[in-house]
Amino acid sequence: MKKDISNWYPLCVEKPRGKFVGHNATGHLLPCCWCENKDDPEFDPLLQDHLKIENVDGIDEIILSNEWLEFVRILVEDPLKAPKSCWKYCGKGKGFKIKGQELYK
Ligand code: SF4
Repeated sequence: MKKDISNWYPLCVEKPRGKFVGHNATGHLLPCCWCENKDDPEFDPLLQDHLKIENVDGIDEIILSNEWLEFVRILVEDPLKAPKSCWKYCGKGKGFKIKGQELYK
């Protein structure tokens, strides 16, 4: 499956039509609910222990962390490196495989 940049529209960045942050069962903040995909290791940088909600004094510590800033930078400046899950939902990427699974039919 080819990533077609003309289809790229990261909804978490492109407000107001966008998606908003959420959190998962492990206590991490996520850029959107579509990121909660344990089969997609490309979100692992955002799922480190020091980024758990219980380990920070405020949400800004997470959103302004190096890991989150790098994630947003990739979405905006280097989207071909964005996670496949992002391409599925925000790049019309049906057909991408993650860990050998045909998740996107
Ligand atoms: S799937 Fe990725 S690009 Fe789309 S809203 Fe969620 S984090 Fe942003």
